[in-house]
Amino acid sequence: MNVVIAGCSGRMGHALLEGVFADPELKLHAAVDRAESPQLGQDAGAPLGVKSGVLVTSDIKAALQGGDVLIDFTRPEPSMQYLDACVSAGVKMVIGTTGFSPAEKSAIEAAAAKIGIVFAPNMSVGVTLLINLVQEAAKILSSGYDIEIIEAHHRHKVDAPSGTALRLGEAAAQALGRNLQECAIYGREGVTGERDANTIGFATVRGGDVVGDHTVLFAGVGERVELTHKASSRATFALGALRAAKFLKSRSSGCYDMQHVLGFRQT
Ligand code: NAD
Repeated sequence: MNVVIAGCSGRMGHALLEGVFADPELKLHAAVDRAESPQLGQDAGAPLGVKSGVLVTSDIKAALQGGDVLIDFTRPEPSMQYLDACVSAGVKMVIGTTGFSPAEKSAIEAAAAKIGIVFAPNMSVGVTLLINLVQEAAKILSSGYDIEIIEAHHRHKVDAPSGTALRLGEAAAQALGRNLQECAIYGREGVTGERDANTIGFATVRGGDVVGDHTVLFAGVGERVELTHKASSRATFALGALRAAKFLKSRSSGCYDMQHVLGFRQT
């Protein structure tokens, strides 16, 4: 399978390159980054000490020619440009970028009528399982338990709360028949008043090199249930993204998430 990596000089880009080089089913077809990237024109494998013969380019149109799938871990603005380019070129897409607006998310879903897309804010097996566990727990603890989501990430992360925290919030809200956009509380300060039982709270921690920790807390009277996932390496996200790319081989259209890729969900 011919893989194009967008954001190849980023943290996730390097983890993806390592995964592609190690996988005999996948071939690095092209490596894309922004025009200002210091790695432009250099061998994409250079930071990993690998001679791949693929030079980093900012020309997305040329990069997609002959490609089967684009894996994108960048920022929402370039992701939307890459999405348009993939639709025009008929190339499938794995989108791992986070921080999209509701309108951008709708545009991704609309594009999936024309190309196969896997779109997930967290590509790890563990978080995909956590989403299911949160749904189950929310159904069982549907009354008398306050839901709070706490996440921690490294100091370079630019969006908050994390896409994964929001996805976990959506899972809990969905299980309870609530709309997350109406019940979410993003951080608290000052005299906030007592907690509204229908809200789902989010707390964000940023610092150091934390790869990604997420806890969904169900706080009742006399007890707390905490469901926690901790990522210790970006390899888990990269391996999930590569699995998602292979999943798309037999899908010419449709918007999927990691629940589909891992077989937890069929529709
Ligand atoms: P990073 O800052 O290390 O890398 C971002 C890459 O995007 C860089 O190569 C950068 O040059 C490129 N880029 C930035 N602006 C660009 C532009 N305007 N045009 C083209 N390229 C541009 O970030 P990272 O830690 O690798 O994370 C990238 C994204 O992936 C973030 O949104 C992050 O939240 C998300 N992420 C998702 C998962 C997941 O499992 N879905 C896991 C980790 C990170």
